Amino acid sequence: MDTLPAQNPKPHHNFTVDSINLLASTPPKHVSGPLSAVFGSASGFPELQFFLEPDGQHSINFDLRTTQLFRLGELQSLCVSEGSETVKEKTFSKGITIQFKEEEESSSFHGAFEQWKSDVTIQGSTLPNGTISSSKSKFDDKIESSSAKMYFHYYGQLLHQQNMLQDYVRTGSYYAAVMENQADFAGRVVVDVGAGSGILSLFAAQAGAKHVYAVEASEMADYAQKLIAGNPILGQRITVIKGKVEDVELPEKADILISEPMGTLLVNERMLESYVIARDRFLVPNGKMFPTVGRIHMAPFSDEYLYVEVANKALFWQQQNYYGVDLTALHGTAFQGYFSQPVVDAFDPRLLVAPAVSHVINFTTIKEEDLYEIDVPLKFSASVGTRVHGLACWFDVLFNGSTVQRWLTTAPGAPTTHWYQLRCVLSQPIYVMPGQEITGRLHMIAHSAQSYTINLTMSDSGCAAKMWGPGAEQGGILQTSSCRLDLKEPYYRMSQPQAYSVAQDQQPNQLLQSQDLQLPSLDDDGSDFIQQPSNDSTVHIH
Ligand code: SAH
Repeated sequence: MDTLPAQNPKPHHNFTVDSINLLASTPPKHVSGPLSAVFGSASGFPELQFFLEPDGQHSINFDLRTTQLFRLGELQSLCVSEGSETVKEKTFSKGITIQFKEEEESSSFHGAFEQWKSDVTIQGSTLPNGTISSSKSKFDDKIESSSAKMYFHYYGQLLHQQNMLQDYVRTGSYYAAVMENQADFAGRVVVDVGAGSGILSLFAAQAGAKHVYAVEASEMADYAQKLIAGNPILGQRITVIKGKVEDVELPEKADILISEPMGTLLVNERMLESYVIARDRFLVPNGKMFPTVGRIHMAPFSDEYLYVEVANKALFWQQQNYYGVDLTALHGTAFQGYFSQPVVDAFDPRLLVAPAVSHVINFTTIKEEDLYEIDVPLKFSASVGTRVHGLACWFDVLFNGSTVQRWLTTAPGAPTTHWYQLRCVLSQPIYVMPGQEITGRLHMIAHSAQSYTINLTMSDSGCAAKMWGPGAEQGGILQTSSCRLDLKEPYYRMSQPQAYSVAQDQQPNQLLQSQDLQLPSLDDDGSDFIQQPSNDSTVHIH
C-alpha cells in the first residue's frame, strides 16, 4: 500500500563547468563558477543537475529524457529541456548555456550526456530487491513523447477515472467477474495493469488476494494511493507503484493479471500491448489474465441518415462566395476529411445488413508485435437488398474464470457502455442485393500516437450484381469502395438525435452473433430499415 521509494542505481558522474547562463530569466542570469554538474537517476529517471551554490542547496535540473545538448563552440554548449516549467497552465522550455574551461572537459561532458541519455531509462519506482532495467523503455521506443504526455495527463485527472467508474456495465462486469471467481484471487499475487483509481486492485483485495501490485503511470497513482489508504483493511494488501508497466520492477511474480486496457474498437490507445508486456514481465507461466480474450466484431450497415450527415458537413466548402472568396477548392479535401473520422455512437442493431464476422485476440498467447498490424479479411452475405454505407464494429472481452466465464460486451443493442460502437463510413456507398456476397478487408496499422490508421475496403460481388447491376450488360460488375480512417480522431455523435427507421420484417437480433452474448430483446415494431437505393452514388466499377 506504500508508494515505493526510488533507488539510485549508478554512481553519480561529476563534472566541473566554468559558468552557466540561465536563458529563461530576463535578462539572462549569469552564474559564475566553478559549478558542479552531476548526472544521476535518483529521481527514477536520468537527470542532469547543475548546483548553483557550493553548499549544494540550489540546483537547476534537467530531465534527460526530454533534454538536448548542442555545441555552440569549442568551450560553449546549449542545454535545452522540452517544456517542463509550468507557470499558470502554460508550459515553457528551460535552457542554459554552459561555459567550459577546457575543450577536453566539454567533450567528456558531451560523451557522458549521450551515455546517460541512451543507457539509462528508468521510470517509476524500483523496489529494494528489484533490478534496474538498463535498456531503453519499450514504451518510449514506439510512442511519441507528446502523445504519451497528453495521454497520461488525461488519465491523471479524476473526472476521467470517474467517467469509467460510472460506466456500470463496465465496472459491474469486472466486479462480478472477480467476485464470481474468488478462487482465482484468494491467496494469490495480483498485478493491476494500469490501475487508474485503483478500483480493480480493491476488487482483487476484496476477493482475498494475498497481495496486489497496482501499477499506474499517470499522476492518478497518487490518488489511487489515497483511495487505497482510505480503505485500510483492503489497502494493507495493496502496493501502488507509479510508473509504466514496461519499466517498473516487481519483487515477485504474479499469479493473475487484472486490467482494463480496452480502447475504442478494443485496440485504440495501444494499451493491449502494455497488457501483453506486463504478462511477459510479471506473470508466472500459465498464470491467469482478466480479461483473457478479446474479440472485434464487424458487420456491414446501412444508415442513410448517418451518411448524409457526414457528407453534408463538407457542404460549407461548396460556397463560391464566402465574403467574396470561392471555397470550393477545398471541398474535396474537407469531404475526405470527414469520412476519415470513425463515428462513435450507439446505433440500432437493425441497421446491420449481414451477420458479423469476428477477429479473436487471445491475450494469454498473442505476441506484442502481432498488435502492430491487424489484418482482417471480410466476407458477408447480405440479408437484404440495400445501400451499404460502411462497416460497423464493436468488441467484447472474456473473463475466463475457473468458476464462471463472463463476457463484457459493447455490442449494439446490449446495454450501452462508454465505448459505444464504432462505424467506418464509406464516402461511396455500395449496393447489394439480398443474398449477395460482400467482401473486403479491414487493415489496421498502429501508429506512434497510440492509435491506428484504418484502411477499409468493401466490395460487392456475385451473381445478383451481375444480373441486376448497372454494368450487367458488360458481363458483371464489382463495386469497390475504400477509405482510410484515423482511429485517433473519432467523431462522437452521441449528442445527435438517434433517428432510425427500422424494417417491419426484420427480427431484431438475428444479425448479431448470439452464441455467448446475452442481449436484451428489442421490440420490432415500425421497422422499415431497408432503404431504397438512390441513384446519386458514384462507385468504382471494375
Ligand atoms: N484500471 C482502472 C483504469 C483503467 S484506464 C479502471 O478499471 O478503472 C487505463 C489506465 O491505465 C489509465 O489510468 C492509464 O494511465 C494507465 N496506463 C496506460 N498505459 C499504461 C502503462 N503502459 N503503464 C502503466 N499504466 C498505464
